[in-house]
Amino acid sequence: MNHRKDKKKTEGPRITFVTQYGPLSRQINMILRKTIGSKVSRSLVQKEDIQSNTFLGTKNTGMYQCLNCTQCKHVIRGKTFVHPDTGESVQIRGYHTCLSQFVVYLIVCPCGKIYVGETVKKVKSHISQHKSTIKPGNLALPCFRPFKEHGHTVDQLRFMVLETIPPLKRGGDGEQRLKQREVWWINKLNSLHPHGLNKVYDLYLL
Ligand SMILES: [Zn+2]
Ligand SMILES: [Zn+2]
Repeated sequence: MNHRKDKKKTEGPRITFVTQYGPLSRQINMILRKTIGSKVSRSLVQKEDIQSNTFLGTKNTGMYQCLNCTQCKHVIRGKTFVHPDTGESVQIRGYHTCLSQFVVYLIVCPCGKIYVGETVKKVKSHISQHKSTIKPGNLALPCFRPFKEHGHTVDQLRFMVLETIPPLKRGGDGEQRLKQREVWWINKLNSLHPHGLNKVYDLYLL
């Protein structure tokens, strides 16, 4: 018999990413291994989640309008996101506006489907870029097809920042960490096709 619990507290760089949600876990793990590999450890991300959460407490969390940009009208405001399909309520950690960058965000289609994305840019610039691909007649490389495919208009677009992942001060690939959190949120919100608007091939575009 061994009652030692020290194994639990050991924080090594080789803790593997284990998804807990839904039947797509194996698929997501495979994608994760192919795109990110073992460079990003989950323990690191978890530790930072806890730190930022403690630092900010429960005050001043959520998504808000910057009140000074053309994307403000598209913002889903609040401290929680309610999944339009499942009704599940997700607490938003951190404080985010249209000006936040290095973010994982979501876009909700008027038909209730979710798209999860990430950007290193200010989210308002990224959303603006999405909008330009929705406009009729635009033949530029589409980064956001669903609205066009569903016949929605740009005005119906709603977005929310789920998490901000600032780059590490010393080294580290900010984009890879973002990508990892994006996959986590895709899994959490079940936004992979056909339930949602994320497609597997999007995850390979690093
Ligand atoms: Zn704004
Ligand atoms: Zn739609």
